[in-house]
Amino acid sequence: MVDTISSSQQAIALEDQYGAHNYHPLPVVLCKGEGVYLWDVEGKRYYDFLSAYSAVNQGHCHPRIIQALVQQAKELTLTSRAFYNDKLGLAEKYVCETFGYDKALFMNSGAEANETAIKLARKWGYTKKNIPENEAVIVAARKNFHGRTTTIISASTDPSSRKGFGPFMPGFEIVDYDDAPALEKALANPNVCGLWIEPIQGEAGVYVPAEGYLAAAAALCKKYNVLLMMDEIQTGIARTGKMLASDHEGVRADILILGKALSGGVFPISVALADDDIMLVIKPGEHGSTFGGNPLAAAIVMEALEVIKDERLAENADRLGQIFRQRMGRLAQKTKWVKLVRGKGLLNAIVINDTPESETAWNLCLKFAANGLLAKPTHGNIIRLAPPLVITEEQLHECCDIIEKSVMELA
Ligand code: PLP
Repeated sequence: MVDTISSSQQAIALEDQYGAHNYHPLPVVLCKGEGVYLWDVEGKRYYDFLSAYSAVNQGHCHPRIIQALVQQAKELTLTSRAFYNDKLGLAEKYVCETFGYDKALFMNSGAEANETAIKLARKWGYTKKNIPENEAVIVAARKNFHGRTTTIISASTDPSSRKGFGPFMPGFEIVDYDDAPALEKALANPNVCGLWIEPIQGEAGVYVPAEGYLAAAAALCKKYNVLLMMDEIQTGIARTGKMLASDHEGVRADILILGKALSGGVFPISVALADDDIMLVIKPGEHGSTFGGNPLAAAIVMEALEVIKDERLAENADRLGQIFRQRMGRLAQKTKWVKLVRGKGLLNAIVINDTPESETAWNLCLKFAANGLLAKPTHGNIIRLAPPLVITEEQLHECCDIIEKSVMELA
């Protein structure tokens, strides 16, 4: 019986033997996190440049969020929604006021918040837009990433998400991302109830649409009476330099979908937000979750969002993001390996000048790790670079030095 881990090798062997092989992690075994730093079991310190896919925007183990968690954990953790609890209403009010909506529906994972948005849009389509029963269509974008449930992957265009998992849920139509004329054609179908979109496609490789695309998409939704369902699970909560990425274009979604950094990474919490005419189409008994809206989550979400505001993390992401892209731009001129850098705020990616099938990006991430920085390729030759938003300018420059040194070490 093994009850403690004494080496990285041992931990990796255990996961390999007893865990499902549904991820391909970098060979690093972490045991401690604080702010922008992570430590492995051998005591080596790293800068975290993934932030658990942007869930840890407030930094690892933020003392205020951990305190909220511990304090509430001692009082009450779970009641289910069969009863009221003394924290949920406060958290609902807090998120509604923060993001400007009438109502909030808390779930746990990002995928569940997206499922909630799908159900809301469909029910709204039948009850408010008079779409014939079972004929509602949701328009989604090519290369989207919204999660892993069987319904969500039905709208995916990524073969590795889909292959072997059919049959798929009908009722999705795919359009090219960042193509307003194609979008208009799709939304003109009177059976369309929702446009389901990410303001920046994070998983796909940090694709930032052309300026004006989101505003045009919002205007088209208004024109054709379609709900704009904005998945800000990765882009939201200050990551791109504003509280929401949609704020860059002054776009307000009809259904706003949030997760990840809503808890600062200490607990799975997600939410769908909408106004009454949309949210109230769902009646008691039609949707829910045993854990969704539990008092522990409610206490955490309020503190996690307070930290974002108090520490002005959106402003920090905006300012440091510009410095980061400047430094990466300069690096691109010095090496053949960095083809381009793109992103907004502190959600950025470098595209490695090699084929998506090549090992170059993976090998570069191994070099990053050896030099004290953790990041991971997404889709082959793209490396997403997304540190916790509490990073300082000095730390950011140190990280740029590590990235530069590692790239220069590539043959
Ligand atoms: N939506 C977006 C835009 C995401 O980036 C992710 C996760 O990376 C999800 C949804 C799924 O969230 P979860 O893994 O919490 O289900």
